[in-house]
Amino acid sequence: MSLIVQKYGGSSVADADGIKRVAKRIVETRKAGNEVVVVVSAMGDTTDELLDLAESVSPLPAGRELDMLLTAGERISMALLAMAIRSLGVEARSYTGSQAGMITDARHGKARIVDVTPGRVREALDVGAIAIVAGFQGVNRGTGDITTLGRGGSDTTAVALAAALGADVCEIYTDVDGIFTADPRVVPSARKIDRITSEEMLELAASGAKVLYIRAVEYARRHGVTLHVRSSFNNNEGTLVVNPQDGDTMEEPIISGIAADLGEAKITVVGVPDIPGKAAQIFTIVASTDANIDMIVQNVSAASTGLTDISFTLPKLEGALVLRALEAAQVDVGFRALQYDDQIGKLALVGAGMRTNAGVSAKLFTALFDAGINIEMISTSEIRISVVTRADTINEAVRVVHSAFGLDGDETAQVHGGTGR
Ligand code: ADP
Ligand code: ASP
Ligand code: MG
Repeated sequence: MSLIVQKYGGSSVADADGIKRVAKRIVETRKAGNEVVVVVSAMGDTTDELLDLAESVSPLPAGRELDMLLTAGERISMALLAMAIRSLGVEARSYTGSQAGMITDARHGKARIVDVTPGRVREALDVGAIAIVAGFQGVNRGTGDITTLGRGGSDTTAVALAAALGADVCEIYTDVDGIFTADPRVVPSARKIDRITSEEMLELAASGAKVLYIRAVEYARRHGVTLHVRSSFNNNEGTLVVNPQDGDTMEEPIISGIAADLGEAKITVVGVPDIPGKAAQIFTIVASTDANIDMIVQNVSAASTGLTDISFTLPKLEGALVLRALEAAQVDVGFRALQYDDQIGKLALVGAGMRTNAGVSAKLFTALFDAGINIEMISTSEIRISVVTRADTINEAVRVVHSAFGLDGDETAQVHGGTGR
C-alpha cells in the first residue's frame, strides 16, 4: 500500500463543481488501494479577497488577526471537501493545520515550520479514512496563536506532511499540466518539462514561477520528498522534480525555463559616502526589518564627489517598512536621498547547463536589445541570469527570450482554470 499526499490548489477547488471533481479523484486514489492525505488551499481567489477585505477595514492589519482571517479560507475548503468525499461513500476527516500538528515559529504571515506531529492524521489513515488538511497554516506552540506560512504556503504544508508521514510521493495538483518552460499564461508556446532538477526548480521558484512555492521545493530537497506536479483537470503525466544526486542521472539542458516576477520593487540609496563600512551599515538596517532582499548593485563612485549609489530589489510588500527604517538612519549613514521604484519587472533565465556554456548572457542581452527593452540591473548565479526591466515590458521580454533560446513548442499550452491572480 502506498501513502500519497495530494495537494489541490485554489484553482482546482474554485467552486462546488471543482470540489466534487477533486473529491472523485481522491476517492479513486483511495479505492486503488492507497492511503491518501489531502492538503487543500482556499477556494479560488479567496485569500486575495480576504486580504482586500482586511485592507478595507485597516491600512496595516495586525499580523495575528490577519493570520486568523486568512486561515478561514482553507477551513472552508477542507470541510467542504470532506463532505463531498463522504457523500461518495468514503470516510474523510478534515483537520486544521494546528490539529494536523503543523507547529511553527511566531512569525505571522511568514511562519516557518519547526515541527510536524501528524498523530491525528495517522490515526485517520489507520482506520481507513482519508485525511484532509488545511494548507498554509500552523500554530505557534509557545503562544497557541494561529500562523500562516506565506503566500503559496499550502505547497509547503503538503511537503512537510509527506516528509513527516514518510509518503511515497507528494502530488501537487494545479490548473496547468505541470512545470513549463515559462508561465503558459504569458507564453502560450511554452513547453511542458517532463523532469526538472530540484536545483533548477529552486531558482525558478525563487524568481517568481509560482507553480511551486520555493520553501516547498527546499523542504522537499532536504527531506528527500518526491514532488510530482500535475493538472487536476486531466490525467496527463505532469512534471517530476528530481534530485540527480540521488543517482538519477539526467542530461542537463542549457536553459530549462524562464520566470518573471512583478512583485518586486527597487530602492536606491543615493549619494552614499564611498568608504568602507557603508554597505554593511545600510544592509544591517535592512536586515533588521527581516525583508528578503534580492539583487544588489553598487555604482562606481564619481571621483569628484566620492559618493556612490546603492540599489537593491525587495518584495513590494516590504518596501514601506524598509524605506522607513532607512529614512530614520539617514543622518547616521550620511546618504543624500532615497528613491523608490515599484514599476520594475524581473526576468530570470534558469538552466543547469549554462554552468558550462559560454555566451548565454550575450544571447539574452541581444534578444532584449532586439526587442528594444532596456536592462536596468543584472545579477547572475551559477545556473541563473536575472535582469530587471520596466514592469510593462516584462511579458514581452519573457516571450522574446523564450524564442531566442529555442524553447517554443509546437502546441499551445493549456490553462485549465484559475484567474492568474
Ligand atoms: P494553485 O492554485 O494550484 O496553487 P498557482 O496559481 O499557485 O496555482 O500556480 C499555478 C500557476 O502558476 C499557473 O496557472 C501558471 O500561470 C503559473 N506559472 C508560472 N510559471 C509557471 C511555469 N513555469 N510552469 C507552469 N505554471 C507556471
Ligand atoms: N491560500 C493561500 C494563498 O493563496 C495558500 C496557498 O494557496 O498555497 O496564498
Ligand atoms: Mg500555488
